[in-house]
Amino acid sequence: MSEFWKIRCKRCGTNMIIYSHASRNIRCPKDNEIIAQSTGGRIHLIDCEILEVYGQRKL
Ligand SMILES: [Zn+2]
Repeated sequence: MSEFWKIRCKRCGTNMIIYSHASRNIRCPKDNEIIAQSTGGRIHLIDCEILEVYGQRKL
């Protein structure tokens, strides 16, 4: 299922909300590093951790 995730960058600790099936790589807005990689399906987390998961209702 597609969801939204609140994630935290492991480099700088910035929190952000991303889409679990984003079609583009996700960059941290603070240090501009790619922290989650688009795979065409569920996104692959590289340098971040999930803090919270939101269901589709939050759209
Ligand atoms: Zn960061």
